Amino acid sequence: MITGKNYIGNKLSAQGSIKYSTINPVLNLENNWKSTEATAEEIAEATALSSRAFKDFRKTTPDQRATFLEAIADEIERLGSELIEIYCLESGLPQGRAEGERGRTLFQLRSFAEMLRKDDWQETAIDFAIPDRQPIPKSDIRKTYIPLGTVVVFGSSNFPLAYSTAGGDTASALAMGCPVIVKSHPMHAGTGELVASAIVKAAEMTNMPNGVFSNLNSKGIEVGVQLVKDSKVKAVGFTGSIKGGRALYDIANQRPEPIPVFAEMGSINPVIITQKALEEKGSQWAKTYADSITLGTGQFCTNPGLILGVQSPELDAFTSELASNIVDIDSMCMLHPSIKGAYDLNKSNVLNQAGVETLTTPLNVEVNYADQTVAKVDGKVFLANPALHQEVFGPFSVVVQCENKSEMMEIIEGLEGQLTGTIIAEESEINDLTDLVDELQQRVGRIIFNGVPTGVEVCNSMNHGGPYPASSDSRFTAVGLDSVKRWIRPISYQNFPSELLPKELK
Ligand code: NAP
Repeated sequence: MITGKNYIGNKLSAQGSIKYSTINPVLNLENNWKSTEATAEEIAEATALSSRAFKDFRKTTPDQRATFLEAIADEIERLGSELIEIYCLESGLPQGRAEGERGRTLFQLRSFAEMLRKDDWQETAIDFAIPDRQPIPKSDIRKTYIPLGTVVVFGSSNFPLAYSTAGGDTASALAMGCPVIVKSHPMHAGTGELVASAIVKAAEMTNMPNGVFSNLNSKGIEVGVQLVKDSKVKAVGFTGSIKGGRALYDIANQRPEPIPVFAEMGSINPVIITQKALEEKGSQWAKTYADSITLGTGQFCTNPGLILGVQSPELDAFTSELASNIVDIDSMCMLHPSIKGAYDLNKSNVLNQAGVETLTTPLNVEVNYADQTVAKVDGKVFLANPALHQEVFGPFSVVVQCENKSEMMEIIEGLEGQLTGTIIAEESEINDLTDLVDELQQRVGRIIFNGVPTGVEVCNSMNHGGPYPASSDSRFTAVGLDSVKRWIRPISYQNFPSELLPKELK
């Protein structure tokens, strides 16, 4: 049941006067429950409780934390159809997507649990002493990793489960022994509260310290800002827009004690299609990409927003087939009126730039539904106008018609950092692609051959991140088991008595 209250550790609390509702975007109506924004006092209470909980939580064994994560997964499953129903009411996303995303969330939690139960996840190092080394003896030095402390998690609107309350950031931070405070996303506060209730129940059942998890409601940005400024908070996980991620990153760096902000942000995910691929399978790729651009109403950070090819009749044919395929797909609801508003605004900003040609006729769509759109522009115009390089979050893509390969390479070299880059080519030209791969891999975190960037597999080889502004630190991934590395730091023990060493170093 949704109470609309905050979780400060295991306690429900609603001291504040700011109440807000989430929106059902399909009906364009407020949902019939209200959440109460956390007050400054409640935020301070949550961070103080969390930092006290850290003293005990960091001493839990990997096995105990694995049991906790498994219990969270079980409790989320137990929420059953209520969770799916609220998710759909708050996001406008279909039931199948809700169930798929819940499956992914459970899988993530259970994967971290499985990792904790194996001995080899800690990258420890031991250098034995060499007492008779000349000219000076060598000490016994052993290295392991310890948790950073309280992590604040900001989820994004487009993944109410997998990148939110019990999403990858929360699961990976808890796995490492860091308490988590979630700054609940205002667009899915009900979904967030239900998931928070499951985490709190799991914490109680597995005897985790009170304060290991809190969930704070927010209508605006103030709650998040206060959390990032709080000296008891030691790291931040953020998934969302470049604007939001950068603002929080700057706040964290201006603190007397700066802290790391692992921000996963927006991207336009360039796709390069070769002349041979256009000649051989242009129609097929036009169909595949119409589907990829509209998947989830285009509301994915991996949405292909930019397609690059060299001018030719085949590129023209591909571009117009892409445009006609995309308008044949039923238009779909966006997550929220403000996401739809931002889509319309950002899209028209691109379409109104000089030299941009819209290839789709505007569709007559219902309120909060997106009219999928494709545009084209010449390479020179694209190169000269940074406004064309910005993410338009929604079912929108620009085809850039380059004069030749060297102009295409110049465009790739000038792109901001991206989550993904894709190459569409024929097998027969693989040996001609070395330069392209070399240039593209400098700009992206994941590089795809003959596929689509949408769909992020949760597995150990996955890197989800990329050079700034795709993420704030390209050395880390937000998806997969390696994402735990964001929440720990190395520590070396020199000449330590065995009794005082952590178990893994004894
Ligand atoms: P968003 O507007 O940036 O919001 C994300 C969260 O950050 C919200 O809780 C929001 O709170 C908070 N926030 C935003 N600006 C803030 C500020 N200046 N100070 C404090 N808090 C702030 O993003 P969104 O619209 O929810 O999600 C869509 C974006 O996420 C797209 O750009 C998409 O590409 C990106 N995304 C990236 C990934 C990835 O893995 N790289 C995955 C999914 C989505 P308020 O709503 O209260 O402002």
